[in-house]
Amino acid sequence: MSHGNAHHILRDTFGYTAFHGAQQAIVEHVVAGGDALVLMPTGGGKSLCYQLPALLRAGVGIVVSPLIALMQDQVDALKQLGVSAAFLNSSLDAGAAREVYRQIHRGELKLLYVAPERLMTEGFLELLEGLEQDNNIALFAIDEAHCVSQWGHDFRPEYRALTVLHERFPNVPRIALTATADAPTRREIIERLALEQAQQFVSSFDRPNIRYRVALKDNARKQLQSFLESEHPDDAGIVYCLSRKKVEETAAWLKEQGWDALPYHAGLDAAVRSKNQKKFLREEGVIMVATVAFGMGIDKPNVRFVAHLDLPKSMEGYYQETGRAGRDGLPANAWMAYGLGDVVSMRQMLLSGDAPEERKRVELQKLDALLGFCESTACRHQTILRYFGEEHPGDCGQCDNCLAPVDTWDATEAARMALSCVYRTGQRFGVAHLIDVLLGKATPKVEQFNHQQLSTFGIGKDLVQQQWSSVYRQLVAAGFISVDMEAYGGLKLTETSRPVLRGEQEVWLRRDADPAQRKSSKAERGSRMREAFAGANEDPLWQALKAKRMELAREQGVPPYVIFHDSTLLEMLNQKPHTLDEMGRISGVGQAKLAKYGDAFLQVVEDVANGVAT
Ligand code: ADP
Ligand code: ZN
Repeated sequence: MSHGNAHHILRDTFGYTAFHGAQQAIVEHVVAGGDALVLMPTGGGKSLCYQLPALLRAGVGIVVSPLIALMQDQVDALKQLGVSAAFLNSSLDAGAAREVYRQIHRGELKLLYVAPERLMTEGFLELLEGLEQDNNIALFAIDEAHCVSQWGHDFRPEYRALTVLHERFPNVPRIALTATADAPTRREIIERLALEQAQQFVSSFDRPNIRYRVALKDNARKQLQSFLESEHPDDAGIVYCLSRKKVEETAAWLKEQGWDALPYHAGLDAAVRSKNQKKFLREEGVIMVATVAFGMGIDKPNVRFVAHLDLPKSMEGYYQETGRAGRDGLPANAWMAYGLGDVVSMRQMLLSGDAPEERKRVELQKLDALLGFCESTACRHQTILRYFGEEHPGDCGQCDNCLAPVDTWDATEAARMALSCVYRTGQRFGVAHLIDVLLGKATPKVEQFNHQQLSTFGIGKDLVQQQWSSVYRQLVAAGFISVDMEAYGGLKLTETSRPVLRGEQEVWLRRDADPAQRKSSKAERGSRMREAFAGANEDPLWQALKAKRMELAREQGVPPYVIFHDSTLLEMLNQKPHTLDEMGRISGVGQAKLAKYGDAFLQVVEDVANGVAT
């Protein structure tokens, strides 16, 4: 293939004006025949890194992906760009698969997506060898390359066999891509895929368009409701819960409140799951209430928020789950409600599982890192990046901690009282009772255990209930107190609490904002989102553009974002193009889409300007 260089294709086919980040360097490297390992966060623009080189090199680019459910959408999106593409996986019937094989033989395809198990069949490898003899394989792209790692939860044994690509096709460039950043996984990818010679392209894993917030839980449903109402009245998003039961209850409750919410978890019928997933992808403004089973392979670009009603299990989990928001680069929210109960129940769950001791220890450490993040008073972006070994240049200025800096207070005395109360009551009671004792409340339970006799009875009257609860939450989160499995979740002291009890160690805790204060800053918090969509939701042109997009998507049975991304529609809204030429200059409008949809969207702009009802 000889026409054009990378920039021309970027502009004419994809409709983009510039490369993002390392894209250009990666494209050039692969076009020249080099192997590459690409580490880029979700939304960083990985697809272009293999799609564009495939268009520039002779032959077909073979894309290995474990995400069968997504192949159809990816191929549809390429076809919209005028690129001939197809996929091969178990969802195709024999006739359709034969047609794809014919296209391969005729050399008609520029991109072919295959499931790893299909690729590894001897028949398919021989087919590839035939192509290779005529120099007709442009490249191999190995997407979701972290699937070779047996430590991750996305492990795919077939990925291990992919070294065969290197052995049998040493002259075809390979590009492996992943959004999983940690060093052990990276090492494993290099080793397992024989990528020692590959050039590594490591991007920053910051997601600047995501605003992270951790809210203290008091009434989680009410908090979620007000978050949705004030910031995401019409948006698509994901609400994560820990258990299947809670997923179903929350989805049902949201529905009662008038939200377009659906449940998703591994216990649902496969048919129901795929129906709900499809609805989430193809319609607008659907809220998916889900366990983490709903995850990999959600590449809907305009997920505007991810809400956690329960704690994720680790920082890795938190980063991945929140990372599904804002893939299109537009502002998105990651919001989590978190409280003492979550700390206790997560610890309990990990401890009571039947994983081997060693594994439990690792999992507890990971949970501790996450709790540290929740309690942190530093910039969220900085805290996340530091966990992954990257320095963030400064405060983001957008997260909850940056917007409303959190005070800390010297809680050394309070911590001693709280710990001592755990000790005096025999290390087997829950927080509610401990606080009653500290506050000197003569409840029936206090009397039953004769706890009004204790030296800690009533010593904590300087603080109120809520403050003690905050102290205990932070002491548990920091690991001074652990959850006793034998005593039904009673709290007990850990070794690290000794220096505190003896007065040898200071304890500084965050001062939780009181609910009234939290409310006052709410308006400000939503402002950035509103700015980006600058009143779009009330603008009739925005609604008309979206309606046109939905109409075209329905006609073709594809998700709306396959026609145009939100960012492209937003640009139309702001530029109000009057000619095809102007339309063609909008980012995301390439030649194929301009020819197909240019007139239709120009008409919408004109009609709305003239007050014609659409
Ligand atoms: P990833 O696979 O890394 O999550 P994608 O390949 O899905 O990312 O790209 C993320 C978003 O960025 C998509 O909406 C894509 O169309 C857009 N995009 C990618 N590269 C560019 C670019 N150079 N200019 C404008 N938009 C881009
Ligand atoms: Zn910040």
